[in-house]
Amino acid sequence: MNLNIDAITAYPAYIPVDLTFGPLQSKTALSCAVVEITTADGAVGHGFTAITDEEVIVGIVRDLVAPNLLGMNALDRERIAERLYWLMTPRGQTGYASHVASAVDLALWDILGKVTGQPCWRLLGGARSEVPLYVTFGFGSLDRDQLGEAARHLKTDGVTRFKMVVGHHGLQRRNEGADIRSILREDVERVRVVREAIGEDCELYVDANCSLDASSARTLCDRLAEFDISFFEEPVRDNDAGRLQDLRRQTGMRLAAGQNEGHLSRFATLIDSGAVDVIQPNAVICGGFTAASKVAALAQARNVEMANGGAFPFHNMHLHAGLAHGGLVEWHLISVEMCKALYSDLPERRGSTLALPETPGLGFVARPDALRDFAARGGSRGVGKG
Ligand SMILES: [Mg+2]
Repeated sequence: MNLNIDAITAYPAYIPVDLTFGPLQSKTALSCAVVEITTADGAVGHGFTAITDEEVIVGIVRDLVAPNLLGMNALDRERIAERLYWLMTPRGQTGYASHVASAVDLALWDILGKVTGQPCWRLLGGARSEVPLYVTFGFGSLDRDQLGEAARHLKTDGVTRFKMVVGHHGLQRRNEGADIRSILREDVERVRVVREAIGEDCELYVDANCSLDASSARTLCDRLAEFDISFFEEPVRDNDAGRLQDLRRQTGMRLAAGQNEGHLSRFATLIDSGAVDVIQPNAVICGGFTAASKVAALAQARNVEMANGGAFPFHNMHLHAGLAHGGLVEWHLISVEMCKALYSDLPERRGSTLALPETPGLGFVARPDALRDFAARGGSRGVGKG
């Protein structure tokens, strides 16, 4: 079988999403890029990346990546990852490169699965056929009452682990007059509403998306202590390893970070410095399963937990099911709805668990009409929209 790469095409997409919690409805949108790789004998794989500028990704794939990878064997994932590293990040640069590498690597794993007739999670190691989920539902667009209503609705649907955002772009909004102290006060009340809605037995996680300075993050950790937070994700700007380390020691809060990292050395720093309790390589951002597996090995060697952060459960479920050191997968409701617009045959959540498909490759199918349709509508020109 001739598995030499014959074509690489990238599609940008900006996808409107309607969220529904019983009678409650909320509108938002999310952007992404899908990379399609075709081999000489017609095997096709689809990779994916997001939380970046999709138009930049498409330009890099078209003008830099495709001309350099054509003719290479699609199963040579390490060779291809090395070529991409020296092509895009020869001085350790960070940024768009790891998003591109992720989309390419996931497409190669999809091809590997299809030509061997095996799902990616089993090719990664087949540690378990079902993964535990937490559900990210508590977005900033919901007011306090809506948060409580959404949490109660999800609990009746069998959800036992809940994540909500805090911080609300506090540092970014300072120049617009935002007062971080009032944001923190409101955060405490929002967390109180959710904790009361879900009861004591459910797990509750919070995520500041790097929106706080170290002092504000410490204040929030102290004020949230009474609500039994299972982990606080990305509390400080830049995921500064030194400040995260301080925060853990000062407050005892369990911290999680890593969803937007792209270099192994950054993951090693977060793990070895004691900055995090939970490391969060995201397969659609860190360089695909090839890179994420290496992060998992670093974390396992240092007894640091691993969990999905940064959304996109349908790709990350393979990592956490495949590897013995896998952990929680993030059922991020906006990203789930977005993927439903792009793919068919997606697996369904049952309460707080997800059973892995036996379908070869990633196990779901990119709809060609949707890729072309969303690409034709153009992107959002913004990083991390949604
Ligand atoms: Mg996050």
